[in-house]
Amino acid sequence: MTKRNRPWGYNPNSSTPTSRELHPDTIAVRGGLTRTGFQETSEALFLNSGFTYDSAEQAEASFAETEEHHLYSRFSNPTVQMFEERLALIEGAEAAHATGSGMSAMFASVACLVSAGDRVVASGAMFSSCYVVLTEILPRWGVEVEVVIENTQDAWERALSKKAKAVFIETPSNPLMEIVDIAMVAKLSHSAGALLIVDNVMASPVLQKPLEFGADVVMYSATKHIDGQGRVLGGALLGSKEYIDQHLKPFTRHTGPSLSPFNAWVLLKSLETMEMRVHKMADSAFEIAKALSGAKGIAKVHHPFLDSHPQQQLAKRQMLKGGTTLALDLESKDRAFELMNRLEVIDISNNLGDSRSLITHPASSTHRRLDPETRMRMGIGDGTLRLSVGLENPADLIEDLVTALKR
Ligand SMILES: *Cc1c(COP(=O)(O)O)cnc(C)c1O
Repeated sequence: MTKRNRPWGYNPNSSTPTSRELHPDTIAVRGGLTRTGFQETSEALFLNSGFTYDSAEQAEASFAETEEHHLYSRFSNPTVQMFEERLALIEGAEAAHATGSGMSAMFASVACLVSAGDRVVASGAMFSSCYVVLTEILPRWGVEVEVVIENTQDAWERALSKKAKAVFIETPSNPLMEIVDIAMVAKLSHSAGALLIVDNVMASPVLQKPLEFGADVVMYSATKHIDGQGRVLGGALLGSKEYIDQHLKPFTRHTGPSLSPFNAWVLLKSLETMEMRVHKMADSAFEIAKALSGAKGIAKVHHPFLDSHPQQQLAKRQMLKGGTTLALDLESKDRAFELMNRLEVIDISNNLGDSRSLITHPASSTHRRLDPETRMRMGIGDGTLRLSVGLENPADLIEDLVTALKR
């Protein structure tokens, strides 16, 4: 990192440190930082929609892209760009593009690639809004979407024996932490002519790096672990320069799912502490998963690093830790509601990756939009709860859960 204080009208790519030069925790606080002439310590907030030009000629050159100059915050903004640059360095991706929410990132990730008549293949267990985009919205525009119900190599080989434009998977899945083999699906996707897009929200950039397993695009809801403090919505897509510049940006420029500079500024600060937060939350989640396994009143605990998880080996190959959330199967909806209502520390809320532990009943909240058969097929029962583990002391959380279960 040679030139840290860049002048106004800087070239945003001129002094980017590579991920090889610096350790991840250094990048988390310094990556992408561009200072103005005031030499402010922390990132400046450019809360402006437009930019001015010295002359009509400069405006023309900026639009013709012969001169590098921000045009309009729907296209780019210095604060948003700092967030994108820092996140790309953390992920180890060539390029990043930020969006206003995880769902706008998800929609754009596929929509920028497909035309009517194209084929998309998707994993069977996923966040319900992603499922609605894939199985209801895109098919309305003539995109054929095949969902791989059985998460086996055979089923993936069958689905990808025909040509496809994009493959979209979520691993681990929300809420049951089902794991898809990224390397296996990446190989099959490429031989079918498709790009592999991975929704990496549940793992976060800290615990899983899909690009290292051959994925082409990584998708985030920055609302979750990246903010991780329950404040702002945001999303991001990371991949090759070619995907971001040639496919994604021409789509988002005109359809407008831009990230607010204010939210980008909040998220930049969040990236500084993300690694510490996610490690602590993941350690606590595993501790709670072990403590609740076999507890009276709990039929099953879903956590990818537990011996009882059918894909534990695969999870350990792909992930550093088992994630910050776990799912609990109780006997019935009544029992699940009873447990939720008795908790004194853990809040009832449908967000995840937050510094506060949050519990939700997916069948009546986050996954309500799915028809009952799809929900059952995904394994989300009436008694299933999702617990997002926060930064509290895990002993207090276990005590809260065990006490609520006992009464
Ligand atoms: C929350 C979530 C999303 C959507 O993100 P928003 O920021 O809420 O739009 C997508 N995928 C997964 C797995 C999520 O948990």
